[in-house]
Amino acid sequence: MAKVNDNYLKLPGSYLFSTIGKKVAAYSQAHPERKIIRLGIGDVTQPLAPAIITALHKAVDEMADAATFKGYAPDLGYEFLRSAIAENDYKGRGCDIRADEIFISDGAKCDSANIQEIFSTDNKIAVCDPVYPVYVDSNVMAGRTGTWDAAAGTWSDVIYMPCTQENDFAPELPDETPDLIYLCFPNNPTGSTITKDQLQIWVDYANQVGAVIIYDAAYEAYISEEDVPHSIYECEGARTCAIELRSFSKNAGFTGVRLGFTVVPKELKAGDTYLHPLWARRHGTKYNGAPYIVQRAGEAVYSPEGKAQLKKQVAYYMKNANAIYDGLSDMGYTVSGGVNAPYIWLKTPEGMTSWEFFDYLLEKANVVGTPGAGFGPSGEGYFRLTAFGNYENTMEALERIRMM
Ligand SMILES: *Cc1c(COP(=O)(O)O)cnc(C)c1O
Repeated sequence: MAKVNDNYLKLPGSYLFSTIGKKVAAYSQAHPERKIIRLGIGDVTQPLAPAIITALHKAVDEMADAATFKGYAPDLGYEFLRSAIAENDYKGRGCDIRADEIFISDGAKCDSANIQEIFSTDNKIAVCDPVYPVYVDSNVMAGRTGTWDAAAGTWSDVIYMPCTQENDFAPELPDETPDLIYLCFPNNPTGSTITKDQLQIWVDYANQVGAVIIYDAAYEAYISEEDVPHSIYECEGARTCAIELRSFSKNAGFTGVRLGFTVVPKELKAGDTYLHPLWARRHGTKYNGAPYIVQRAGEAVYSPEGKAQLKKQVAYYMKNANAIYDGLSDMGYTVSGGVNAPYIWLKTPEGMTSWEFFDYLLEKANVVGTPGAGFGPSGEGYFRLTAFGNYENTMEALERIRMM
C-alpha cells in the first residue's frame, strides 16, 4: 500500500500567502466596489527591461532555425551566462568565484528548498526569526525539524535566532551549535542588512564549528550602503563554509520568467565530503536546466544597456521604499528596512497583533500587507509592506493609511 511522506502532514496550516489570499478574496467579494492596493506579496510589477526583451526575441528566433536551435541545456547552465555571472557578480566585487562553481537554475526559491537534500536529516538547522518560510518548510518536509509546538509557533529541532528591534534585526550567534545556518541579507521580511564585518563573524563561526551557511542574496541589487556586502564571498574564508543563492527575480523582474543560480565553491566540505559534486549530481539527476531563451535573457542583465535599465528599475522601487519609510515615520510609526531592500518593516500600533493590524489595514484603507507573525514568532507585533507596487498606487495607499 502506498504511504505518504507523513512529514507533509506535520506542516501547520496553509502557506502564509494563501491565508492572505483567502482573506482578501473574501473582503473583495463582500465589497466589490472598493479598490484594493496590494503591498503584500513580494512580486514585482514593472515590465521586463528593453534589453531583456530584445534578448528574448533574438533567442526565440534562434529556436526557429535548425542551425541555431538549442535542446537540453548543459547541466550547470550555459557557459555564456555562468561566465557573465562570475565576471560581474563576483570578480567585479573582488570575490574568488569561478564559472564552474555556478549552477544555473529556475530560481532561488527552488534552490533554497532543494539544497537541504544533499545534507543528512540529522543536521540541525538555524534560521532567523522572522524567516522566509521556505527554509523551514522544506526542512519540515524532509523530516529534519522535530515536532511542532502550536502555542509557541516553533519546531522542537530548529534553532531560532530572533531578529527584533532590540538587536537591530541582526541575528546573534546561537547558544546551541547548528549544522546548517540559513542567512538572508538584505533580509526578507525585515528589510534589514548586516555589515561586512558582521557577516565575517558568521563566516568565522561557521568555519570554526564546521557548519555550512546557506546565504540567500536575492535582494543584493537593492543595497545602497557602502559597508553592506553584496556576496558572502566578500568575507575571508567563505569558500570553505558557504553556499550562496541568487535570483533574477528581484533585480530584473524575472518572477514569471524564472532564473536563478547557486554557488557551491569547490573547497566547500561537510565533514570530509566535498559538496560541489553532490549538488552537481543532484542537479544532473533531477533537473534539466533553465530554458535557453531565459538564460540568454539572463545574459542581457549583464550587458551595458541591461545594467543601466535595471539600475533605473531598482531605483523606481526604492523610490517607493523611501516614500513608504518617510510617510509612515511621519505618521508616527516605528519603521525599519527600506534602505537596502524593497521591504519596510513596521511595528504594529500599540496592542495590535500583526493579524489584527492586517485586518484593520484591509478594512480601513483597503491596503494589503503581510503580518509579521506569518514569518515566525518574533515577527509578531510587526508588519511588512513592499515597495514593489507602482508609484501611484503606493502613494495612494500611504494617503489612505494616513486617513485611517
Ligand atoms: C523572492 C525571493 C527569492 C527568489 O525566488 P525566485 O524563486 O528566484 O523567484 C529567494 N529568496 C527570498 C528570500 C526571496 O524573497
